[in-house]
Amino acid sequence: MRGLLLAVVCASLIACSSAPHCNKQPRSTWAEQTQISADISQLASDEFTGRDTGSEGAALTRHYLISRFQQIGLEPWQGDYQHPFSYSASFSDQLGINIAGVVLAHKPTSQWRVVLAHYDHLGSKGSRIYYGADDNASGVSGLLQIAQHAATQATDVNLLFVATDAEEPGLHGGYALVDTFAKKNILPQTSQIELVINLDMIGRPDRRKAIYIEGARRFDSYELMQQSMTQSNQLCVKTRHPRAFDGSVISVDFLRASDHYPMHKAGIPWLYFGVPTHKDYHQPSDTTDKIDISFVAVVAESAYQLLIIDSFLLQYSP
Ligand SMILES: [Zn+2]
Repeated sequence: MRGLLLAVVCASLIACSSAPHCNKQPRSTWAEQTQISADISQLASDEFTGRDTGSEGAALTRHYLISRFQQIGLEPWQGDYQHPFSYSASFSDQLGINIAGVVLAHKPTSQWRVVLAHYDHLGSKGSRIYYGADDNASGVSGLLQIAQHAATQATDVNLLFVATDAEEPGLHGGYALVDTFAKKNILPQTSQIELVINLDMIGRPDRRKAIYIEGARRFDSYELMQQSMTQSNQLCVKTRHPRAFDGSVISVDFLRASDHYPMHKAGIPWLYFGVPTHKDYHQPSDTTDKIDISFVAVVAESAYQLLIIDSFLLQYSP
């Protein structure tokens, strides 16, 4: 009984510890909301026509991302921002191009942490454009905010920022990245990566104003990681996705839902940040005017905290 009572008390403590800030407006400190708004508006613009892999819109997107990476002061990864890869789809070879930049630690170290966000989306069908403001212009704008801040700080670990391509047709940019980490003379090597943070759809919070984090249970000190993420901005964090927006139970396989899955299969520690699916998911109606810019700012700041916490807090059991 006592043991049970203790277990119940512990369980409820853990449960309530993850909900202290919910249903409240979290506050950001350094993230630039005007820049987030500008990045999302541009990425989800008519001009970029839904950023379908291989399209003219995707090429314009890459041009934009490279100029932002240069503006922020990210170094090209392995001497280049563009990292082409091929993958087969519908019985033919397709070409994708990841965009990658780094912030090196202020003292030489072999430790690396990685931030991912896919920039591709569904393109257009006839005159209907799938703008993908939440999926995933929001995640890319978050990645740019984190990179911009990290570039002004003296970080203790090396940071790699990758805007991946061809996520929608099959996580191909993520798989290409894992293949690259396994190649000789490439930094980081798979074993040197302490953490991968994947940002995919972080702009449309539910009424709880919560960000949902998948992968938490594989980190031995997750509770401490979450405290460091939320202590300054009171962000509501949940580690279990709710029912679908219309109350129905759609079983989304969040493990396989985005670019963190290739990392998972390679045994690389990962966390996936996202909001629940909403009625505009994969619709032309996923537009910039519906994005909660202040929420994107807070999520970016929380994710950044995980790039600077001590490595011993990142003990991982795959
Ligand atoms: Zn997505």
